[in-house]
Amino acid sequence: MSLRPAAGPVLLTMLAAGCAAPPPEYDLVIRHGLVIDGTGARAFEADVAIRDGRIAALGDLTAARAPHEIDARGQVVTPGFIDVHTHADALHEHPLAEHFARMGVTTVVAGNCGSSAVDVAEQFRTIADTGVSVNFATLVGHNTVRREVMGTERRAATPEELGRMQALVEQAMADGAVGFSTGLQYVPGTYAGTDEVVALARVAGARGGIYTSHMRNEGTELEAAIEEAIAIGDGAGLPVHISHLKVDAPIRWGASADALALIERARARGLAVTADQYVYDAASSSLGIRFPSWVLEGGQDAITARLDDAATWARIRTEMRGLIAERGLTDYAFARIASYGADASLNGLTIPEAAARVLEASDLDAQLEMMRRMLRAGGASMVYQFMSEDDIERILRHPQVALASDSGLNVLDIGVPHPRGYGNNARALGVYVRERKVIALEEAVRKMTALPAGVFGLADRGRLTVGAAADVVIFDPAMVVDRATYEAPHQYPDGISHVLVNGIAVVRDGVHTEARPGQTLARTTHVP
Ligand SMILES: [Zn+2]
Repeated sequence: MSLRPAAGPVLLTMLAAGCAAPPPEYDLVIRHGLVIDGTGARAFEADVAIRDGRIAALGDLTAARAPHEIDARGQVVTPGFIDVHTHADALHEHPLAEHFARMGVTTVVAGNCGSSAVDVAEQFRTIADTGVSVNFATLVGHNTVRREVMGTERRAATPEELGRMQALVEQAMADGAVGFSTGLQYVPGTYAGTDEVVALARVAGARGGIYTSHMRNEGTELEAAIEEAIAIGDGAGLPVHISHLKVDAPIRWGASADALALIERARARGLAVTADQYVYDAASSSLGIRFPSWVLEGGQDAITARLDDAATWARIRTEMRGLIAERGLTDYAFARIASYGADASLNGLTIPEAAARVLEASDLDAQLEMMRRMLRAGGASMVYQFMSEDDIERILRHPQVALASDSGLNVLDIGVPHPRGYGNNARALGVYVRERKVIALEEAVRKMTALPAGVFGLADRGRLTVGAAADVVIFDPAMVVDRATYEAPHQYPDGISHVLVNGIAVVRDGVHTEARPGQTLARTTHVP
């Protein structure tokens, strides 16, 4: 009360000092952009205001005040892209994740293909303590928990071992994992039967998680693999998400139609089945995946012993000839070396090219010998070119398929990784939306935002709406395109000007700001 007489003079003083204006309403206003909200709805003109890491207002905000503004004229403003299929498990070692951020990715989901951290709580702490540029969520991986309990033994789990694996899954889910992943083409998950996977997936499902799968087969037996994934969803009672859906055998090109029909049939009777894909005609994986899985049992010493034994190697060679023949391939020209630790000078060469250089012969026998030597020397990461554009486009048109890169954490100019880690989102927008018109821009954005957010239970992400977390991408739809190629992958895309994570710019005018506003994200949907 006694302060009232002073109010007038104080106000006059403030005016004199030029600070009469009330404090700014917002931290940042993005003006004059075309908003695509992530739901698939038509783009609309609107300003976007951000306060305290959240979308605070949307519409004509001409009168709004903020210390920072972005003029987004001629550009679209969308939710940050959610990349649900990554191998960014060691994000704390590469905390800026520049190749993800520069293609608009604001959230990565790790723990895919059965491979994750064992201790999710510790992983979240490490990432939070380090500070990272993008948000991080993770699945808990089947291969990880199986290796922890059983090593790489090629047999069924005992009831006691199964119980220990279930306990690891349970703990990871309690610590915030978004679901349970398998990599049934990889050791040791490939040694597990469907029942084991059902028993573990059920634990994730009871906590509201999903089941994601790098399936047992992605070409010659694609339909059977999808049926197994669906059976696991039915048996364990949880949603199924098929990772990097593709047809990876030329002899089966076109089978994507049957694959999508199987998904449709399961959805029609009430099982939630979704998928993701990357928009490239090549896959990326280990060298070992080209060998019969029994060769990989028991670690490097056991592998080397098999490769050095003449009779065993003869058997391996015969099986490998069968494996490529059944895909409709005649040699390993489809296989390019991405990163070979024992001799980096071979990076970028195909297997026949490497054989020609090292063995001075490039026939199939020489190629197999080259692969024997490489696996013996610790293996390599590879790029495998064996998909068709028709299948990629058919899968892309399906409304339940999200876009995701399948990329690990790339380090600029190191190795010859798959270009998807630098370009997947930009390639979808530039090549498949703008050039080929396979899907509409709004639909592509939905496949990168609201669709994956919904499937993976990241409730306040993936939509540009008031109250949502302020993960935002601003790009020029007429310019956006990938530049990374198989030969020269370390190139950031064009056309993406700004990327905000929790309201903070990690990319500004096309340059990484080195800000680290990323958060660890636990699953936000409630246990049903
Ligand atoms: Zn995979």
